Amino acid sequence: MNEYKIFINGDFVDGRGGIGEVINPHDNSVIAKYHIANREDVDLAVKFAREGFEKWRNLSINKRIRILQNLVKLLSENLDKIAQIETLNVGKPIIASKTEISAGISVLEFYIGAINKIMGETIPTLPGHFNYTIREPIGVCALIVPWNYPLMLTLWKLSPALACGNSVIIKPASWTPLSALELAKLCKEAGIPDGVVNVITGPGNEIGSYLVSHEGVDKISFTGETKTGSEIMKLASNTIKRVSLELGGKSANIVFEDADLEDAINGSIWAIYYNSGQSCEARSRLFIHKKIYDKFLSEFVEKTKKIKIGNPINKETQMGPLVSKSHLNSVHKYVEKGLEEGAKLIYGGKKIDSEDLKNGNYYMPTILELSSTENICFKEEIFGPVVVVMSFESEEEVVNLANNSKYGLAGTIWTRDVKRAIRVSNSIRAGSITINHPLTAIPGLPFGGYKQSGFGRELSLDAIELFTEKKSVIYKFDETPVNPWNL
Ligand code: NDP
Repeated sequence: MNEYKIFINGDFVDGRGGIGEVINPHDNSVIAKYHIANREDVDLAVKFAREGFEKWRNLSINKRIRILQNLVKLLSENLDKIAQIETLNVGKPIIASKTEISAGISVLEFYIGAINKIMGETIPTLPGHFNYTIREPIGVCALIVPWNYPLMLTLWKLSPALACGNSVIIKPASWTPLSALELAKLCKEAGIPDGVVNVITGPGNEIGSYLVSHEGVDKISFTGETKTGSEIMKLASNTIKRVSLELGGKSANIVFEDADLEDAINGSIWAIYYNSGQSCEARSRLFIHKKIYDKFLSEFVEKTKKIKIGNPINKETQMGPLVSKSHLNSVHKYVEKGLEEGAKLIYGGKKIDSEDLKNGNYYMPTILELSSTENICFKEEIFGPVVVVMSFESEEEVVNLANNSKYGLAGTIWTRDVKRAIRVSNSIRAGSITINHPLTAIPGLPFGGYKQSGFGRELSLDAIELFTEKKSVIYKFDETPVNPWNL
């Protein structure tokens, strides 16, 4: 069985916090072991990341570009192998693993293209003076990644961080540490200098919180739960670290009566059940106009029944298991509580216990009809294949429903009326709105949340700001004496 060590200063070394097991969610078998870092390991990673920072930021831009181009090549060559590992570890269908790794590579390519375009400006200033601004890397960045899109989200963070000249310490989620460690190998092979990329694995509430409090870390880029994000902000505040947070969501999906129903049904199904609903931007609240409610819902249910659920390693599988047993239990508890609070079960609502899938963490795609916005399933992020549906009559009513959430990550509107589409998208308090399609995360376009879904935008040129400091330089070129106090 493969045993994965932590990666510090260009070497795989023993973690001194013990050994953990990596589980395949399809059947809960152990597929690998991984080393757990302790605090001394974190100290060491930070020490070498500080040295790595000096090497990387002083490398010529062209060298940085070429090295990262090598990484693109290596990732592409190893795509099938890493996709296989991601599928065995996360339970996501193999097709999805491949697509997401490709998307991650596109993100890396996007930031490689940006490296020699990180520009400053010249701002009019005092007479006889000349000003220019430059963007400089921040320093050592801790990249803290969740389990739902392990490699892709790592690349969302790593790519702009390295493009801007920072060094990094990656902390993958404990359920899914493997692809980040595979990536570390490729970083070394690509020629990234030792110490620039480090990967430590181990429990977030121990070594993760130690890392985000560490004096030697300058910036935290975190994706994960809102509760954890809030804790991280507190820990990072002691040393005034730069922080960007991509957090949870409870995104609205609004279907107006004039929508293309076929598209809206197919798109809405994908928007909630992709990755078994374990997506921050999953459209988990479905609002359907009263005039089309019955027709839409019955077709939505019929198509939901057709989703191919099964072993994610099979090419035809569309929906795999949930990431872990404990997550499966958490999803089911939300459904039970929602039903107790008055939700009506339209479909699903239970674990799948067919002979071939009973050992895995498989949950039925689940549809709950709600009449109250007080229901727990309306309010909380379930992070599973569970959609709540409600009907609405007016535009104003549905905008209020959509905005009735502590989150504000994304939203979708289905309508043929362009004016209405723009009006409603302007009224929804969320970071990304899609109109007549469900795709949110696209390289080049800003991605991030309003309200408790976090702050800072990834995937776009905005991320350059997340990974740089702006310096203003003022140069006096005239011959007048410098004597402000007339001494
Ligand atoms: P968690 O917040 O539990 O964990 C995320 C990462 O943080 C893991 O690596 C975890 O380590 C680590 N961590 C946990 N506690 C701490 C701590 N105190 N200090 C430092 N690090 C810590 O989230 P999940 O892994 O459960 O991911 C699911 C969440 O991520 C959902 O809420 C989802 O909406 C959100 N998400 C948001 C996205 C966005 O872009 N807005 C995108 C994808 C997901 P460990 O695994 O060891 O606990």
